[in-house]
Amino acid sequence: MSLTVAIIGRPNVGKSTLFNRLVGKKLALVDDTPGVTRDWRAAPARLAGIDLTVIDTAGLEEAFDDSLEARMRRQTERAIEEADVALLLIDARAGVTPLDQHFATWLRKGKTPVILLANKCEGRAGAPGLYEAFELGLGEPVPISAEHGEGLAELVEALLPYVPPEETQPDADQEAEAGTDPEAREDGRPEPVRPLQLAIVGRPNVGKSTLLNSLVGEERVLTGPEAGMTRDAITVEWTYRDRPIRLVDTAGMRRKSRVDDKLEKLAVADALRVIRLAQVVVLVVDAEAILDHQDLTIARMVLDEGRALVIAVNKWDTVTDRAGTLKQIDDKLQSQLAQVRGIPVVTLSALRRQKLDALLDAVLDIYEIWNRRVSTSDLNRWLAGMTEAHPPPAVEGRRIKIRYMTQVKARPPTFALWVSKPLDLPETYIRYLVNGLRESLDLPGVPIRMLTRKGK
Ligand code: GDP
Ligand code: GDP
Repeated sequence: MSLTVAIIGRPNVGKSTLFNRLVGKKLALVDDTPGVTRDWRAAPARLAGIDLTVIDTAGLEEAFDDSLEARMRRQTERAIEEADVALLLIDARAGVTPLDQHFATWLRKGKTPVILLANKCEGRAGAPGLYEAFELGLGEPVPISAEHGEGLAELVEALLPYVPPEETQPDADQEAEAGTDPEAREDGRPEPVRPLQLAIVGRPNVGKSTLLNSLVGEERVLTGPEAGMTRDAITVEWTYRDRPIRLVDTAGMRRKSRVDDKLEKLAVADALRVIRLAQVVVLVVDAEAILDHQDLTIARMVLDEGRALVIAVNKWDTVTDRAGTLKQIDDKLQSQLAQVRGIPVVTLSALRRQKLDALLDAVLDIYEIWNRRVSTSDLNRWLAGMTEAHPPPAVEGRRIKIRYMTQVKARPPTFALWVSKPLDLPETYIRYLVNGLRESLDLPGVPIRMLTRKGK
């Protein structure tokens, strides 16, 4: 059974772009499918193991000739009747418009659950619109970039509560093992725990496939393609310490690597695609060739994408000078990934199945930190101490003032600073605050985002 989602929103927010992003090449098949309503585009899609039917409403408003509000409402009414979940898109670059407001007010009264998506959030230009989106009263907006494929893991996460349980929990035994969320659903049934979305990435031959096999057991990985999936992708889900963990992509792992000039580029592009689907990324490196150029490129990508990173130093069984190697790793991290202190490093042997628990414990720990929220009062108390110890600089004789700070989201921890002259606040000062936050408020090893806003 698939989950039907309707993409709605005013013109130009990116509905078609998101539709194409989700549906991909299968689009061509749609027009020929009998029974698909002609004025909608609806197509199947599969996103991180979830089967979707995606309805696009773009352009439909042109079919009616009264006011834009009324036309949009009619188009939407019909689409959400069919849908299990509505995806309301806004353009974060343009900010919240009266038409978005109108839409949100109307949707709040309906029965269909709504996930609010702030589109065009790549880079920093989407930040102001993202805050405004909170005001729509539809919960926390999910920042995405339909055009660049960013935020898909967050979208998956927002969709998971609506996925029929048998799809997130492959069998009954596993459901029993997986435990439950403390808060029960309205129908009295416990909410299934959502799987942690894990990716394993790394250069060819570092031992990714071996690690995967050791983690989940040989047979599970070799069970082969499920119906409706591409041939070389399989879904792997297992439970560790009562936590369901889902590997978001196995395609890259099964593909046999070709040795040619393009290999490096391909591996990096592949890694990026997988990273965007994940919450926690395990970067596997080879103990014999510690953190080379390409390892570091992938590590930076993980952090830039705002994911939690764990470095797995594999083939530890072959290392003779262990202390020396550890020192080398530490130096590399200090010099090359200085922006995020405290990235967890686990040494292990995938082949001998050694220290696999240590790896998964590190995954669960960093996931917890990545989800952490700091209270506004703690933040502002801390901020007062920081600005007193080391005030922001003056520009043209007037001191820049930082008035207020709040955490706007977790996953990764993202903070907003209200500043008198946001554009003049130097990068070094922001780094001072980020490093301080990490240490004083206990956020080691995860990327931290700091956004600035003009204070009133
Ligand atoms: P629709 O009318 O809601 O279906 O919007 P479209 O999908 O046609 O997109 C409207 C415009 O926004 C197009 O120029 C897209 O290229 C652009 N767009 C869509 N998604 C993004 C995004 O994530 N980032 C940016 N910067 N532009 C986007
Ligand atoms: P992938 O390309 O990253 O998926 O790497 P593979 O899993 O195919 O492993 C590449 C090679 O490294 C294989 O010959 C494995 O047997 C070997 N290998 C993997 N893990 C270990 C390990 O922990 N110790 C040793 N000594 N060899 C390993």
